[in-house]
Amino acid sequence: MRIASVLIPLPLPEAFDYAEPEGMELAVGDVVAAPLGPRVVRGVVTALRDGAGGNRALKPVAGRIDAPPLPAQSLAFIDWAARYAVDQAGLPLAIALRGATAPKARPERVAQLTGKSPTRLTPARAKVMAAAEVALPPAALARAAGVSAGVVHGLIADGALAETVREAPTDFPAPDPAHAPPKLNPSQAAALAALTAMIEEDRFGVALLDGVTGSGKTEVYLEAAAAVLSRDPDAQVLILLPEIALTEAVIARLAARFGAQPAAWHSGLGPAHRRRVWEAAALGKCRIVVGARSALFLPFARLKLIVVDEEHDASYKQEDGFIYQARDFAVARGKIADAPVILASATPSLETLWNAETGRYRWLKLASRHGGAVLPEITLVDLRETPPEPGRWLSPPLVAAIAQTFAAGQQSLLFLNRRGYAPLVLCKACGERMRAPDTESWLVEHRYTGRLVCHLTGFSMPKPERCPYCTAKDSLVSVGPGVERVEEEVRELFPEARIAVFSSDTIQSAEAARALIEAMAAGDIDILVATQGAAKGHNFPNLTLVGVVDADLSLRGGDLRAAERTFQLLAQVAGRAGRHVNPGRALLQTWAPEHAVMQALAAQDRDAFVALEMAEREAAGLPPFGRLAALIVSGEDPPTLDRFVRDLAAAAPNADGVDVFGPADAPFSLVRGRRRKRFLVRADRSVDLQAYLGAWRARVKPPASVRLTIDVDPYSFL
Ligand code: ADP
Repeated sequence: MRIASVLIPLPLPEAFDYAEPEGMELAVGDVVAAPLGPRVVRGVVTALRDGAGGNRALKPVAGRIDAPPLPAQSLAFIDWAARYAVDQAGLPLAIALRGATAPKARPERVAQLTGKSPTRLTPARAKVMAAAEVALPPAALARAAGVSAGVVHGLIADGALAETVREAPTDFPAPDPAHAPPKLNPSQAAALAALTAMIEEDRFGVALLDGVTGSGKTEVYLEAAAAVLSRDPDAQVLILLPEIALTEAVIARLAARFGAQPAAWHSGLGPAHRRRVWEAAALGKCRIVVGARSALFLPFARLKLIVVDEEHDASYKQEDGFIYQARDFAVARGKIADAPVILASATPSLETLWNAETGRYRWLKLASRHGGAVLPEITLVDLRETPPEPGRWLSPPLVAAIAQTFAAGQQSLLFLNRRGYAPLVLCKACGERMRAPDTESWLVEHRYTGRLVCHLTGFSMPKPERCPYCTAKDSLVSVGPGVERVEEEVRELFPEARIAVFSSDTIQSAEAARALIEAMAAGDIDILVATQGAAKGHNFPNLTLVGVVDADLSLRGGDLRAAERTFQLLAQVAGRAGRHVNPGRALLQTWAPEHAVMQALAAQDRDAFVALEMAEREAAGLPPFGRLAALIVSGEDPPTLDRFVRDLAAAAPNADGVDVFGPADAPFSLVRGRRRKRFLVRADRSVDLQAYLGAWRARVKPPASVRLTIDVDPYSFL
């Protein structure tokens, strides 16, 4: 008899042993069903060993599940991930199995050309006939042709189209590396040559593709992908993007370049789609995957290149459930696959720059914007000298610039990284700030929905007529601006302009995001008021003015990366302007124009900023010169929590090169009724931080009502 170790995708301390039933012939990686207490759960076989002579009666594996097995590399990655994050391997396994057992897509009805011409050909019908070259479900065909579904049904009744039932597709069309290659400029060609050399070595290595916005980084990494695909007929390429909103644009570019749609992977996709991509990845039937961070956990059969676009983006950090930094994990995944990894950014993270400076990563630079487009001119607007009128948020110089841009028939983007109408609502009678009942953060006013919303927990309530604290009537005032309020202001100032808002509240699907981005790219919007979703990566040819409403906003966070993030975000936003023929400019409204970040931005001097920031980090032993981890302890009962926090503090191991700070209240010290305390661990690079954290955790046992979370390389400091 053999014993199978089965890892279950739940927060459990280890894989459990089961007996292999006679004749089941399990293999490592098989997805199986196994009894766990009263339930039957799915899991993955991680090891098999001879069990002869064992005297423990083991429950048998219940059965094999109809899914491709997890490849050895996936198992190795899951194991590595859990060790790195000092967490249970069941958690990364759960991510890796998302999609593995989702229901398959059912057969679908599609409309197909019959070869018969329509009896009457209207322009709408002609559009459908052209779009029907590819068989699509009637509704999708109508959408593709931009007509109503009635037109498609009319053509079916007419006999020009026929409905047939088709099995849902399982594999993805093969990309053709020779389909539409661009002509690279010399600087792009040099970067590509270096990447191709890496690809030909067929080994792990990391390259930083470092070029200003619009220099053609995407163009270069698409060619690197082409090189991989043409070299090896089974090779797979993974392209990671930080935002769902960006995937549509990159998918369109891939489709144009390779003549075939790549597979998409993100949380906005339904279970049948996930199942299809999961299986296709495991069976080698999709060659390019474009996805969000969890795509790293797909069971690739033959992964040969990973690209992390906008590698500096903080959205790569997954903060809930299993905590991980997808950029760092991509490098580890590349190492396991023994494949090259490309990190692309105009404003690389300090960690990545440090790795490039010290020679760990190849540093490939794209010098300038493609096609002679120039970088925007950046001007600081000193709000102390030219403040907006009371109750307004746009300063006279910015308003004048918008007016000029609008008059010239060009587009403006006003950037404010704040959703909703006002970040704070307070009662002018009693002075209370509106808070959620169980969470210590302010409620944000949303005018579109008329509600007050907690952005941390999602709690919301209608805006009350009376103050809930003192019951005064009509006493609530909105303090500060969100995008909705800036929109209101521009509508008053420019009533004849076409204005739109882009934020996660107004744009709730990838589809809606694409429609808005297309409208902006097509010039159908004059002024776009947007949060960071619109700041990243997009290409708006006629955008020549970027106004940053509150450039100081992210500097106020006070966390390790506040200055770095502000610099990156504002450089990105400013980089949206003037990407084509017309030169662009960016106006940054700030109360602190003398701040190093603002000065570096105005001078477009990234190197100066990086040098300054590196020196500060080095002096403090902070990343990339040292390592950080946070221990967050939360619980509903304050005395129990305090007792455990004291025990935890007393249990901290002593080690050279490690400092433990705290316990302190976490910045949001009350969330959903749970109080939160935090320890911060700083360690020299030579310290085995994971071993330290593991040893510490092993010394304590949290009571059932207390949760202890470890966050290696914390970002948000929440
Ligand atoms: P980045 O990713 O660095 O922001 P992109 O790859 O998006 O830059 O390039 C910016 C714009 O310039 C895009 O519209 C792209 O199609 C165009 N472009 C860049 N390089 C080339 C090239 N070699 N030939 C044609 N167009 C290019």
